[in-house]
Amino acid sequence: MSTTPETDERLDAGPHSRALMQRAHAVTPGGVNSPVRAFNAVGGSPRFIRSAQGPWLTDVDGKRYVDLICSWGPMLLGHAHPEVQAAVQAAVARGTSYGTPTEPEVELAEEIVARTPVEKVRFVSSGTEATMSAIRLARGFTGRDVVVKFAGCYHGHVDALLASAGSGLVTFALPGTPGVPASSTELTLVLPYNDRAAVEAVFAEHGDRIACLVTEAAPGNMGVVPPEPGFNAFLAETCAKHGALFVSDEVMTGFRVTREGQWGLDGKVEGWRPDLVTFGKVMGGGFPAAAFGGRADVMGHLAPEGPVYQAGTLSGNPIATTAGLTTLRLATQEVYDHIGGAADVLKQAASEALSAAGVAHTVQSTGTMFSVFLCDGPVRDFNDASRTDAAAYAAFFHSMLDAGVYLPPSAYEAWFLSSAHDDEAVQTVLDALPAAARAAAAAGGAA
Ligand SMILES: *Cc1c(COP(=O)(O)O)cnc(C)c1O
Repeated sequence: MSTTPETDERLDAGPHSRALMQRAHAVTPGGVNSPVRAFNAVGGSPRFIRSAQGPWLTDVDGKRYVDLICSWGPMLLGHAHPEVQAAVQAAVARGTSYGTPTEPEVELAEEIVARTPVEKVRFVSSGTEATMSAIRLARGFTGRDVVVKFAGCYHGHVDALLASAGSGLVTFALPGTPGVPASSTELTLVLPYNDRAAVEAVFAEHGDRIACLVTEAAPGNMGVVPPEPGFNAFLAETCAKHGALFVSDEVMTGFRVTREGQWGLDGKVEGWRPDLVTFGKVMGGGFPAAAFGGRADVMGHLAPEGPVYQAGTLSGNPIATTAGLTTLRLATQEVYDHIGGAADVLKQAASEALSAAGVAHTVQSTGTMFSVFLCDGPVRDFNDASRTDAAAYAAFFHSMLDAGVYLPPSAYEAWFLSSAHDDEAVQTVLDALPAAARAAAAAGGAA
């Protein structure tokens, strides 16, 4: 609890946000329902948001911000999109949950199958559930237990994946948090990202025990660290050679970096498919919906068709699937072109402002998604990402926030845009960047 409103020097949140945070602290651990919202990495008191429209957030003190988080990815069309709102309101008027199959589930599954390499898909309620279920299915399908992941890739708070590397490359992982028993991670191997030799070494040693390798299709949870050209193809090939499944986590990148996710940038072009894919964020249109899917023969092992158990009371909820379906139907190529164009403008402006202030930085992107590391590049893996200057980022973040731009309150995140980010929103960000870059320099980020 490093930032109670009373003890923090940066009392720059308005009185209503601060009062709510005080009440929240009394009844919720850390005052928040997901840790990054607490601002612990940047200091200061979080803004409580009351409403949002297009690219703008409005907090409970009436201050407006250009939103560069977009709910951590989902709001591809911006907030309160009129057609999404109308579809959701119509769905709510018909009832909110039946515990039976519904039409929007079928339509959303068809839309996902049409855009992505998956042949069949099963809906769940969060990205965590999607990766947890995909791993169970991979283990059930292969009859093997070992899972390989990369350091810095986040797949939700699944016990087996909250793991950090052991002392050597081919040694099994240690729990990444108290509460995860060693027995949950002793079947997990954690490797450095973009490191082919490490992948080859673990498959040489443990290949016949590996059920699957799971990776973010393009990591975004250590900042954006794109796969080096051919890396995902190499992973798919290595898995196939050893009878393991290649699980591509597109919870963040799916329907965001392109219409077809990261796969649209590499797999589709290079001619390979992951065995399983996980989705979330954009496909829920701002509601709790996520999915995992893949090869029909693998998905056929799932209950009730096959023996691997998986279920959910609210899975495929009609409101969530309606929001997701409406969002995806509206997510045309023009939407991605617009977001990509705005991203290019912001990437260049951020880099120019930081250069002018003499702040070491690297801007990295995949498709329409990008992040700004406050360290020299390239950033190829989690070790590199860890060199980012957290104090400089905190100063940068707060300067932007004061100027009405809501960046992620952590240096290890992507910046998210939407099709609603218009000239006014982009200009607000451009106007805020030079002073923020100078604040970063003053806080210790000078090259
Ligand atoms: C956000 C995220 C998850 C977890 O999704 P939740 O809905 O937060 O459980 C999993 N994988 C990736 C790549 C993510 O970005």
